[in-house]
Amino acid sequence: ALDADWAERWVRRTAEVIADAKGELTELDRQIGDGDHGENLDRGFKAVVARLDDVAAEPAPPGERTVGDVLKLVATTLMSTVGGAAGPLYGTAYLRAAKVSGRPQIDPPAVVAVLEAALEGVASRGKATVGEKTMVDAWHAAVEAGEAAAGDGGSEVDVLRAAAEAADTAATGTIPLIATKGRASYLGERSAGHEDPGARSTALVLGAALAAAL
Ligand code: ADP
Ligand code: MG
Ligand code: MG
Repeated sequence: ALDADWAERWVRRTAEVIADAKGELTELDRQIGDGDHGENLDRGFKAVVARLDDVAAEPAPPGERTVGDVLKLVATTLMSTVGGAAGPLYGTAYLRAAKVSGRPQIDPPAVVAVLEAALEGVASRGKATVGEKTMVDAWHAAVEAGEAAAGDGGSEVDVLRAAAEAADTAATGTIPLIATKGRASYLGERSAGHEDPGARSTALVLGAALAAAL
């Protein structure tokens, strides 16, 4: 099972990979948006790490820390530090994920539930469905692959590997699409031929979830 320490490793790893990919994400967003996606997420996850460090320095509260405790801290921090579309979208994803993971440990079906809740959060906050060239495309692919892996009796790592690989493929798959939500939709057909930055960052986030579980 995956525990709150895994969730914390996931989040810290996410901050690292986002920092490394900041330039790449910003360049993708420069092509079909306003060129701030890398900066937005880097600022947000740096703030998350700072808050995790603060929590680690405090005396531990009574009771075992849950996966949801960590994800809720991410949600509230992203919502208050990341402007633009990505802050509320990722914030809602982590908030919904936190609501279904308020336990010290999560098994493969519960890992799937976390992914499903995150997708539901992004899709409802953004009023987007699959195929609109947004981060929903990557989350949706991750959910389907994660469900299949868990249905086959896969482990937590199997679920996360399937989800991360599917999100990576789906992010690449946004390249030919025409955006119909978000800033990129202003470009209409000219949005085709570029990868959606939010779908790419989602693949990075899920890759970090897998790495933290290995
Ligand atoms: P902004 O567009 O406000 O500058 P960011 O650049 O941080 O925000 O994030 C842009 C990303 O947000 C897009 O690449 C896309 O994946 C995602 N996005 C934007 N609008 C929506 C929406 N309505 N639904 C789902 N995802 C969206
Ligand atoms: Mg932007
Ligand atoms: Mg912006």
